[in-house]
Amino acid sequence: MKKNKNKNRVKASTQSLATLPQNIMPIGERVYDDKNIYIHQKVYRQIHKFAEDKNKNESGGILVGKVINELGKDNTIIEGFIEAKYNEATPTTLTFTHQTWEYFHSEVNKKYKGMKIVGWIHTHPNFGVFLSENDKFIQNNFFNDVNHVAYVVDPIQNEEGFYFWIGEKLERCPGFYLFDKNGVKIKTKVFSDTDSVEEKSITKVSTFNIVLAVILIIMMAFNIVAMVNMSDDIAALKKENDTLKAHVDKIQHNIQNNFRTIEGVINSNNLKNNDQNDNNNKNNNQNNKQNIKVENQNNQSETGGN
Ligand SMILES: [Zn+2]
Repeated sequence: MKKNKNKNRVKASTQSLATLPQNIMPIGERVYDDKNIYIHQKVYRQIHKFAEDKNKNESGGILVGKVINELGKDNTIIEGFIEAKYNEATPTTLTFTHQTWEYFHSEVNKKYKGMKIVGWIHTHPNFGVFLSENDKFIQNNFFNDVNHVAYVVDPIQNEEGFYFWIGEKLERCPGFYLFDKNGVKIKTKVFSDTDSVEEKSITKVSTFNIVLAVILIIMMAFNIVAMVNMSDDIAALKKENDTLKAHVDKIQHNIQNNFRTIEGVINSNNLKNNDQNDNNNKNNNQNNKQNIKVENQNNQSETGGN
């Protein structure tokens, strides 16, 4: 696995960049000096993975790559990292031995053909980022090219910083660039390829949280809509109730009116009936009178005939 990765890196880096990397991500602040530092994101991750568990003694290695000058600016392009072997280290010092240097050169020749040493990296386990007198001595004697850089990583305090030569002084670089081939996404998270499982699980957790949050928001939205609907329903019911009451009132009123009308009709009918009865009585009386008259006449004619 590791061999393959190295082969890939060599292949990528031998496709040397004639111009500055275009796919970049700035880390820290802009550099206003006539220099810049670019580090391939794979190398950046590789170094942080390497530094991760180096929390007892100082440890380190060299940085390889090239320098591209553009518009009067020297850009140190870091494309590889070689871990120091056969070195001597204490919690606050690091010494590259003769054997270490032999190892570096043979590794550059084997794996980084066409590239050169552009600086070094070492760790400061839990004492911050700066250059000690010993570090300055190493820089002065082994990395004294105008474009050589020093990279310091504190894996415990999670701090890092580059130093470069500004004239005769070693200055801390305010920022640098991560880069990769065009079209490759640049991630700021410091995880090596072997950590991808951890990275994925972290992504999963955050995705899970996002999904959970979205579900909660949707549920809340539904509740709000339901509450609004319910209040709408209640208002509609109230309105309906009022309408029904009005209808009932109207019906009661109508019934009362109808009763009154019926009473009126009954009364007028009674009156009419009474009138008719009276008339009938009158007629009867007249009839009776006529009958009596006829009877009297009959009686008279009978007696007259005798
Ligand atoms: Zn140091």
